[in-house]
Amino acid sequence: MSSNNQHGPGLRRTASCGCQRLRLTVSGEPRRVYLCACSECRRATGSAFAYRAIFTENAIIAIEGESSVWRRGSDAGRWIEQVFCPGCGGLVFMRAEAMPGAISISVGSFTDPGFPPPAASHNRSHRPDWYRLADTVAED
Ligand SMILES: [Zn+2]
Ligand SMILES: [Zn+2]
Repeated sequence: MSSNNQHGPGLRRTASCGCQRLRLTVSGEPRRVYLCACSECRRATGSAFAYRAIFTENAIIAIEGESSVWRRGSDAGRWIEQVFCPGCGGLVFMRAEAMPGAISISVGSFTDPGFPPPAASHNRSHRPDWYRLADTVAED
């Protein structure tokens, strides 16, 4: 596999927190990319919605640096763990009881403007009406 390869299974991306001490490297393309505007995602990101990518755990090449975990409940009463840097507080990824064998990575942590776009936007009713999504993004 050429090191210049930009797509396919040879692709590697590293997500990191603001201080770059917590770093998560994954291979291949995400299983699913989505936006979520629920209250918890807005609080977790401090923004109008979360932009996240789901990778299977076997796509993880390395997790480097210290991390802290905050476990909360979901609307469906199941646990969600937010994994963040204890130094700068950056939320790099999440695990969820409802999503065994997979992790959900904060796409912003990749700082990759070419990252695949979201296929879906969840919790539309929580979303402000001042932004518009592309027609390719399914809404619920
Ligand atoms: Zn950090
Ligand atoms: Zn959400």
